[in-house]
Amino acid sequence: MLQQVNGHSSGSDAHGGESLREDLQEFLGGEAPLHQLDDLTKVNPVTLETVLRCLQARYTADTFYTNAGCTLVALNPFKPIPQLYSPELMQEYHAAPQPQKLKPHIFTVGEQTYRSVKSLIEPVNQSVVVSGESGAGKTWTSRCLMKFYAVVAASPTSWENHKIAERIEQRILNSNPVMEAFGNACTLRNNNSSRFGKFIQLQLNRQLMGSSLLVPRAQQMTGAAVQTYLLEKTRVACQASSERNFHIFYQICKGASADERLQWHLPEGAAFSWLPNPERTLEEDCFEVTREAMLLLGIDAPTQNNIFQALAGLLHLGNTRFADSEDEAQPCPLMDGAECSVRTSASLLRLPEDPLLETLRIRTIRAGRRQQVFRKPCSRAECDTRRDCLAKLVYARLFDWLVSVINSSICADPDSWTTFIGLLDVYGFESFPTNSLEQLCINYANEKLQQHFVAHYLRAQQEEYTAEGLEWSTVSYQDNQTCLDLIEGSPISICSLINEDPIPPELTRLLQQSQDPLLKVLFPADPEEKSQEEPSGQSRAPVLTVVSKFKASLEQLLQVLHSTTPHYIRCIKPNSQGRAQMFHQEEVLSQLEACGLVETIHISAAGFPIRVSHRNFLERYELLRRLCPGAAASPHGPPPDEGRSEWSPHSEQATLQALLQDILHTLPALARAPAEA
Ligand code: ATP
Ligand code: MG
Repeated sequence: MLQQVNGHSSGSDAHGGESLREDLQEFLGGEAPLHQLDDLTKVNPVTLETVLRCLQARYTADTFYTNAGCTLVALNPFKPIPQLYSPELMQEYHAAPQPQKLKPHIFTVGEQTYRSVKSLIEPVNQSVVVSGESGAGKTWTSRCLMKFYAVVAASPTSWENHKIAERIEQRILNSNPVMEAFGNACTLRNNNSSRFGKFIQLQLNRQLMGSSLLVPRAQQMTGAAVQTYLLEKTRVACQASSERNFHIFYQICKGASADERLQWHLPEGAAFSWLPNPERTLEEDCFEVTREAMLLLGIDAPTQNNIFQALAGLLHLGNTRFADSEDEAQPCPLMDGAECSVRTSASLLRLPEDPLLETLRIRTIRAGRRQQVFRKPCSRAECDTRRDCLAKLVYARLFDWLVSVINSSICADPDSWTTFIGLLDVYGFESFPTNSLEQLCINYANEKLQQHFVAHYLRAQQEEYTAEGLEWSTVSYQDNQTCLDLIEGSPISICSLINEDPIPPELTRLLQQSQDPLLKVLFPADPEEKSQEEPSGQSRAPVLTVVSKFKASLEQLLQVLHSTTPHYIRCIKPNSQGRAQMFHQEEVLSQLEACGLVETIHISAAGFPIRVSHRNFLERYELLRRLCPGAAASPHGPPPDEGRSEWSPHSEQATLQALLQDILHTLPALARAPAEA
């Protein structure tokens, strides 16, 4: 069942569309600002220019959220506005009979998704896809939404039984500082840029309030599960000019105590080549916050100590410099001072020093039918690559391990939850003068999400109207499928042609020799892995490349999204300097174009936002049918509770129409009745 929204029609609507249109007219004449226009579907005509001007007017008036049909546009204020995210405001949206009638806000999305998973009629898992380019505010938005759910879906009993720190909602929120410390970094576009993608599934239970099915259910957060996507591990060993390594490295260098500095060999002011641009940012001041959050997630002090010591080991590894060898048959010598770095690194990672140096400088090759082992000294560039590869390997495994620890701390028992709200926050689109495999993957993920939006909304909506025989003039839109075909299509695409730099098996074998308890966990001596890394003859297992793994994980993510009702928040970055009160039209325009916002507005304005299946509608309004006996006696078809299985959609629809007519006729009479009585 579809209900048309009164978008472009000339009549006035429930939200005062006529007066808003007048505002716009006035504005276009240069007289008045457009800041009251809450929904871009009311802009007339809908063009890039009018949408842009409306958003700019709102931004200037400190109004950062605007509806755009099925999407919420979120402009990054680039300044703290505590009252916009206060617990009081959360409660206001939570308590509102119709939160969509309040000012546009991410809390409207939060409340709508929360109510939908609670629905008595048809609870469906929900997802919120937060998109936008790097620095647009996706992570900020996701964090605020998590706080919102933590407030509205908090379990009331646990307030009495548990200390705040033990509460599941608090543990879930604590995963943010930890993951951001290890997975975010300062880039040219964003001081706190996510270098990994994240989908967090907030798990909700189903509790009946009282015995009646008609009493709304309280849905409480019982746990969460985090899925991450491709950490940009290259950053550990290689940072673009003016960019930085992951926050955690700066945090330990700045926040370590005197004792820890001694233990981790991090004297005050020590220079590390993998720690460029050490000038201060807010994020590096957060070591205590990170530690506290880790503790609350169950990562105890000795384990933390172990982690930070290993990270210090990586920093010293980064100071290991090789010189060119004068004799190709000899390994590259170390540069002056690098011996100390290797020794310190080996001791912090609890690796044997000589095998470490040997692994970095000598390649092992197996060849011939008998798989004879040959040892070949590496060139200086190869030594550098192996050193970097070792660090990336350790860091990536450490990150994955942290995610698994976080999951075991916050994940609910499978029997204790029934529905979920998924929040997706992936790294935003980016393009640098020199781009690496990571940028390809990041932008690929963004194209994939845009395709989900195109398929789920722009295409599916219009196809549905055509299939239902509704009058509809097709809105053209930019379909990025051809771009995706180029990246991931078959038989030949960029993905199928990429076969990146595999990890030399000697590196993993070396790390398996570590005496460090953490590294032992990260690199267990796995016989299966060993046999895969040292294939002999024809039993070689297919090697999964980074890109093929990433592609598979994205496919999985899209399957999850398809199984939910998606909600979209488009974050827009008003300027690339990260400055408050600055709106660069050109920059915003290109973001509006990239996400197809104008097409979205056109389709939303002319479309049908409410969809209820005939059967669900009948079940939901059964009570009204009983109040309107005329419908049951409709000549168009049998009453709903007779011969259900033989119903055709046509007869169902005919009955429904009769029912509606009856309701329409009966309701005024019912409304008049008390007055007459
Ligand atoms: P990336 O793709 O690089 O991870 P992002 O879209 O996740 O980028 P955020 O890290 O969320 O971007 O936001 C960048 C910065 O913008 C934040 O660190 C914060 O300073 C500011 N910011 C974003 N949203 C808001 C907001 N609603 N209120 C105040 N400041 C904000
Ligand atoms: Mg982010």
